[in-house]
Order: sequence, then C-alpha cells, then structure tokens
Amino acid sequence: MFNKVLIANRGEIAVRVLRACKELGIQTVAVHSTADADAMHVRLADESVCIGPPPARESYLNIPQILAACEITGAEAVHPGYGFLSENARFADILAAHKLTFIGPKADHIRTMGDKIEAKRTAVRLGLPIVPGSNGGVEDVADARRKAGEIGYPVLIKAAAGGGGRGMKVAESADRLEEAFNTARAEARAAFGDGTVYLEKYLAHPRHIEFQVFGDGRGAAIHLGERDCSLQRRHQKIWEESPSPALAPGQREEMGNLVAKAMAELGYSGAGTIEFLFEDGKFYFIEMNTRLQVEHPVTEALTGLDLVVEQIRVAAGEGLSVRQSDVKFSGHAIECRINAEDPATFTPSPGRITYYHPPGGLGVRIDSSAYQGYRIPPYYDSLIGKLIVHGRTREECLARLKRALGEFVVDGISTTIPLFQKLVDEPDIISGNYNIHWLERRLASW
Ligand code: ADP
Repeated sequence: MFNKVLIANRGEIAVRVLRACKELGIQTVAVHSTADADAMHVRLADESVCIGPPPARESYLNIPQILAACEITGAEAVHPGYGFLSENARFADILAAHKLTFIGPKADHIRTMGDKIEAKRTAVRLGLPIVPGSNGGVEDVADARRKAGEIGYPVLIKAAAGGGGRGMKVAESADRLEEAFNTARAEARAAFGDGTVYLEKYLAHPRHIEFQVFGDGRGAAIHLGERDCSLQRRHQKIWEESPSPALAPGQREEMGNLVAKAMAELGYSGAGTIEFLFEDGKFYFIEMNTRLQVEHPVTEALTGLDLVVEQIRVAAGEGLSVRQSDVKFSGHAIECRINAEDPATFTPSPGRITYYHPPGGLGVRIDSSAYQGYRIPPYYDSLIGKLIVHGRTREECLARLKRALGEFVVDGISTTIPLFQKLVDEPDIISGNYNIHWLERRLASW
C-alpha cells in the first residue's frame, strides 16, 4: 500500500478522497490554488502545497506544478478525482515516466474511451449495443446530410472529444442540419480544441442508465449495478438514483454481467462507468467514463463498498476487496447535487456562506467542502456538495430526502436546494416516471 497520496483536485471530491486515504492509514497531500488557501480539503490534509493562481489551467491543470508537489512531499501516487486531469492520458503517462502511480485506469484505455468515436467502435467489438449513428466522424455538411438521411431524423451531432454536454446539437429535420452541424463543430473546437463530430440517432424519450464497473488490475472485472441519471439540465445530471425505477427484475444482472465481461476482455483496471440510454426496454451505449463519477456515493449506499478505497487498492496492486458474488445490493439511494446557483435561473452564486447547517440522521450522507464562513470562489464549478439519502425502499428514501432537504440550511448564497424541494413533491418523480427530457420541460412550465 502507498504511504502518501497526493490529491490533484479540490472541493467535495478532494475531501472525499482524503477520507478514504485516512481510513487506509495513508498520508495525504492537498494541492490548491491561491484562491483555495482556506478550502476544506487544504484544512483536512496532512500537508498542502500551493500550485498556482486561481485559473485552473495555471493550478489544478498545471502538470509541472503537480509533479513538483509530489517531489517536494514524497507522494508516491496521485488521485485525480473527477474533472481536471482525471481523463488526461498524457498526465497518466507523465506520472508513470516519473515513477509515480496514477490512481486510475491505464493511459491507453483513457485515450480510447476519451475519443467517443473510438469508444463506440470498442463497445461494438466488446459486444455492447450502441446508439445507431454515423460509425465514425463526419467530414462536412454534405457528408452529414447523407449520413443523417440514412439514420433518419431527428439526429444528434456530437463532439468526438465531448464532455459535460458541450458540442452537442440536435437537428430535428434536414433543413436544420447545416446550422446544427456548424454550431456543434464550432463549440467542439472552442471547448476541446478538436472539431471532430459524429452523428447519432436522437432518441425521443430515453432514460440515462449507467453501470459502475471495476477492473481488478489482474484480468478480472465486476459490476456494481446501475444508476439512473435521467434528471438532467443541459445534458448535465442533477439527481441520480439506484435502483433505476425503469429496470425490470433481472435486467441489472443481465446488463451488469455483460459490461463486466466486456471490461475483463478489455483488461480494464480500476473504476469506470459505462453509460447507456435506455428506451423501450433496450440499452444503447453512449460513452464510458474512465474515472470516479460525481454520483458514485449512490452505489456506495447500496453496496456498502468504499469505491475510492477500491480504486486505491487496485492502483497499489492489491486487487479488489470483493468478488462479484460478494456484492449485495440493498435498498434505494438518491443523490442530489447541491450547486451554488440560483434555483430558478441557474446563474452561479459565489460568495460567503454566512450560516451552514447540514442535515443528518439515519441514511443521510453529505459529501461537501462547505462550512460556515467559507467564501466560494468564482473560478470553479458551482457544485458545493451532494446530499445522498438511503432507505429500504424508494418510498422511504423519498420521504427521507424530503425531510433532509427541509433541515438543510445554507445562508449567504443561493443554492439549488429549493429546486429539489419542488422535485420531491412532483407526481412523476414520486412514481419514477421521467426521462432525460422531463426536467427541462418541467422547468419551462414552472
Ligand atoms: P457528455 O460526455 O458531454 O456528457 P454524453 O454522450 O454522455 O455526453 O451524453 C450526455 C447526455 O446527452 C445523455 O445523458 C443524454 O441525456 C443526452 N444524449 C446523448 N446522446 C443522445 C442521443 N443519441 N439521443 C438523445 N439524447 C442523447
């Protein structure tokens, strides 16, 4: 096992990783920008190193500075969290070249899955069903028009290097294709420095259901069930739950075993998430994330496993602590992403938290970096924490969520807590009858 791990991230996920390290008896190193000197992850770590000014590209994305921090502190491994350098294959390669361990999958797998066109090809090879589409990039508008005609409208134009819902545009019909194609390509170029786009059939009413997988680094892989992440705004998840209200009995095992087998065949190592759209009882692969997900605590609630501990074990060569047959799923869990945003307009609301009271009680977990007096800097993601609630049934879980949201007080800034308070009372949410378009439509009518 490692003696010292550096956490190349900030916010709630840095705190989350620190907690796992501490329980494993591993010394922790936090890195931070000058804007984050007072952040919780810096306070809780054994050591901390300032790695640059507020802009992420000069601090949290600054590879030479992170390497220097490893060298100064003697850290042997780096946990990248999610976002920032977590899906940067070059970073994984550079760490290896410096005899440091990247707590994540092999660089080649990050590279393959980071290119969505390549990822879909790999999925086909591994026997996973994919969304019908252009089978590769599209060259220009004429090519897109031809392929869209074959696929059938509406089509979705997606960035090969995509992420965070950017570079994605729907063309409802042929006369909208050119504009959608050009916008998607421009957005992809601006966001990822790569304008390669591809086409996919735009599914009318799917749910987003993803499977948590884990490769043990020794040739075997397991699955840890699914998460339903259909409640989204601008293709970004805000609420995740498990089990999915839409899965029929046996579907978890069937699909879970298929993805676990695929990951074993790939020789995948560490945590990963295989994302599918699910419509009319069928699964369609869209992408794979080669890292820990924001919503991983939902899986932890059901399985009792600590996913960060498992990541660290695999990276240290110790394999997983469980086999597939040891994994049991219990009850129901829901996660709400609490953002420092106006709950109606979603404009970011940085500033000082003047009063903070998180909820508690049975089955209530808060993963957050917030505290009373903390000043949320304006430079980063607006996620300030996650509320994860677990109950024996979905009904109990919803009642507990409503109770917990009622206790949650964050003053001085706006948060998305009031949005979730509305959602828990919605008949469609109570019945579990929602798809990826539900939230945007509901928001438009509020
Ligand atoms: P990103 O990596 O940018 O998050 P994804 O491929 O994971 O992109 O898709 C994000 C979300 O966009 C999905 O959860 C879903 O809501 C929507 N989406 C993606 N592909 C399709 C599709 N073919 N049809 C309908 N919606 C889609």
